[in-house]
Amino acid sequence: MENRRVRVRFAPSPTGPLHIGGVRTALYNYLFAKKNGGDFLLRIEDTDQSRFVAGAENYIVDALKWCGIHIDEGVSAGGSKGPYKQSERKAIYRQYADLLIESEHAYYAFDTPEELTEMRERMKSAGMASPQYNAVTRSGMKNSLTLPAKDVKTRLDRGDKYVIRIKMPRNEDVKFEDIIRGWVSVNTNNLDDKVLFKSDGMPTYHLANVVDDYLMGISHVIRGEEWLPSAPLHVLLYRFLGWESVMPKFAHLPLILKPDGNGKLSKRDGDRLGFPVFPTNWTNPETGEESSGYRERGYYPEAFNNMLAFLGWNPGTTQELFTMKELIGAFSLDRVGKAGAKFDFDKTKWFNQQYLRNQTGGDLAKQLTPHLKKEGFNVENNYVVQVCNLMKERATFVKDILNDGRYFFEAPKSYDEKTVNKKWKEQTPEIINELSLLLEKLPSFDPESIGLCFKSFLESKNLGFGVVMPGFRLSVTGLGAGASMNEIAALLGKEEVLKRIDSALSSINN
Ligand code: GLU
Repeated sequence: MENRRVRVRFAPSPTGPLHIGGVRTALYNYLFAKKNGGDFLLRIEDTDQSRFVAGAENYIVDALKWCGIHIDEGVSAGGSKGPYKQSERKAIYRQYADLLIESEHAYYAFDTPEELTEMRERMKSAGMASPQYNAVTRSGMKNSLTLPAKDVKTRLDRGDKYVIRIKMPRNEDVKFEDIIRGWVSVNTNNLDDKVLFKSDGMPTYHLANVVDDYLMGISHVIRGEEWLPSAPLHVLLYRFLGWESVMPKFAHLPLILKPDGNGKLSKRDGDRLGFPVFPTNWTNPETGEESSGYRERGYYPEAFNNMLAFLGWNPGTTQELFTMKELIGAFSLDRVGKAGAKFDFDKTKWFNQQYLRNQTGGDLAKQLTPHLKKEGFNVENNYVVQVCNLMKERATFVKDILNDGRYFFEAPKSYDEKTVNKKWKEQTPEIINELSLLLEKLPSFDPESIGLCFKSFLESKNLGFGVVMPGFRLSVTGLGAGASMNEIAALLGKEEVLKRIDSALSSINN
C-alpha cells in the first residue's frame, strides 16, 4: 500500500466533555494528517446509546474549533463518505455481521443475561478468575454453534433476542506492528468472543469502528493506549472481512499520567490539585455540575496545544515554543514515546506566559479592553497599550494585567497592610513629602528623569533605596511590589502621582 493517501480520524464517543487526553489524540491525528498532506476526519461513535450525553457532540466540535484543529471531513464538516455519526449509519453494519456469520467467523448467541451470569458464577467457583464467553465456554452456551440448525432458525424466525459474537480462533498468535510500540503479539486464547452486534440492532464499537475505518479509507489509526487490548480483535476483523490489504496502520499513544504518583490523569486529579482537565467549560446536563475549561480560564489555544503536543512527543531539539504550523512541520509519530507522560500544570502556565509576552502591547490591549469595560474603566487605547507593554513580563493571563495593575486604572483604595506595617515608619511621610516636592519640579515626567530625581534625592539625604522606595510605591500603587516605579509613575503622569501621594500621606497612619 505505497502512496496511500493519509486519512486519519478522531472518533470520540459523545459520553461527556473531551478530556485533555482526547484533545491530545485529536491534535496528534491532526498534526500527522497535515504533516503528510492528508485528511483529518471527525467521526462520532455513538453506538452505545445508554452512554449518550446531550450536548457532548457540540462540545467536541466547539472544543476542536477553539484549538484550531480543522476538520476536513466528518461531523460538522460533511464529506463524501458520510454520514459520520454511527447512529446514522445503522443500516450499514448489519451486512458485515452477516458476512462474518456466513464465513463462520461469527455466530448468533441467544443467552439471556441470567444465563450469562450463571455461566460466570459457575466458572468462578471452578477457579477461573475472570470467566469469559470464549472458545472454551461457548460450547456450554446457547448459540448457533451448539444448538441444532433447525432450532436456530426457529429462534430467529420467532424474533428471539440474540447478539452476534465473533468466533475467536483457538491458540493463534495475532501479530501487528504498532508505529509507537513495535510488534505486538497476542494469543487468541487470551481473547474472548466479543459481541459485534447487539440485540438492539446496533453494532458494538468494535464492528462499527472497523467497518467505518474501512469504508472511510482510514490509513492510520492513532488513538489512546486504552484501545491497545482491542487492536488484535480489530486486526482479526480486517482479516475475516477480507480487508487485510487495506488495514490501517496502528499507533497507540501513551497515557497522560497524573502529576503526582502514577496512574492515568482523571478529572478528580484536576479537582484535587486545582486545574482544568477539559479544554472549555462544561456543564453536566444531568447534574448541573460545572467544570472549568482552559479557554475560560484565559489560556491561549496556542499555549494549550503546545503543552499538549509535548505530552508524549518531543521535537528532539531544545525548542519548546511551537506555533501550530511549526508543530505540523516538526511532528512525527517516531518521536512519540511509549512511556506515559506526566501532566505538569505549571508548565501549562509557563506556555501561556510565553505566548502572552510574545504578543505586542497592541494585541494585548485589545484582549484587555473588554475586561476593563466590564469593570467600568474607560481608558484611552494608547494608555492601555503602554500598560500592557509594561506588565506583560509579569502576567500569565491577560486578566492578570488588570488584577495586578489595577492602580493603572484607579487610585488605590487601600494600602497593603504588610508593607505599611513593615515599611511605613515615623519619618516616612516627611521623606515622601520631600520626594514629591522634587518630582513636582521635574520639567519632564519620563522614566529616566524620575529615576535620576529619585537617585539624587537618596544621595542628598543619604537615604537607602529600601527606606524610600516602598513608601513611594505604596503611596502610588497601594502595593508592596510590582513593575518599575519610574515607568509606573511616568505612565500615570505627574498630576496623578502627586495627587496619590497627597492622599496617601493623609490616609496612611501608622
Ligand atoms: N470511540 C472510541 C473512543 O471513544 C474511539 C477509539 C478509536 O479511536 O478507535 O475513544
